[in-house]
Amino acid sequence: MSFERLEHNGTTIEYFLIRKAIRHINLHIDRDQIIWVSAPLPMPKQIIEDFLVKKWKWILNNKKRVQERQKTHEISVGRQFFYLGKAYALEAAIGRPALIKKEDRLLVYCKRPDDDDNVASTLLNLLARELLSLVRLLRPKYDAIVNDYHLPPPTFKIRNLKARWGSCQVKKHIITLNVQLMHFPLETIESVLWHEYVHLMVPNHSQRFYQLLLYHMPDYQKRQLVLKG
Ligand SMILES: [Zn+2]
Repeated sequence: MSFERLEHNGTTIEYFLIRKAIRHINLHIDRDQIIWVSAPLPMPKQIIEDFLVKKWKWILNNKKRVQERQKTHEISVGRQFFYLGKAYALEAAIGRPALIKKEDRLLVYCKRPDDDDNVASTLLNLLARELLSLVRLLRPKYDAIVNDYHLPPPTFKIRNLKARWGSCQVKKHIITLNVQLMHFPLETIESVLWHEYVHLMVPNHSQRFYQLLLYHMPDYQKRQLVLKG
């Protein structure tokens, strides 16, 4: 397997190339937006690149679709807001940053409640803090598995990512989670968390990766369904 880069019309894509005893090229984009290309063993690189250029539009569209899916969670007062899988009406009030649930209302205290940008940035900060607390709650079980592999527990970062739910810097033992995960039920957040943990032990998405993933979380696919919607 090799990591490749290809530029075309001013945009660059990065992909993993796997050489296999197969007859045709295969192109696959996984849920982390990682591009996988498998190609027959003797196929010249130029033919693979020509194939990718032909599929260029499809590859870029696929990436855009994921970004748009995440944009549907836009934050503005009066709109519906999904919090841990449940719909709330978002409201804002002046006060020290805090997030309060009142039946079907989600109330954000912030500096300028009539400014959607201020509401959104305050809310994202609060959600990032909550996501970190959830990680603390969920992690002991997964830290123990990682420990069985004689690996140190990961450090967590929360970011407002554009095109992925999580990522793992294997060598640095850093897992980054998308703050937007707070829209989804806890069991879905846990499945993303565990997916990234597994990368500490298996960096790629090989069969071994999914074996380990499903061994400790047999209902993984079900938990992930809501992310694909
Ligand atoms: Zn992954």
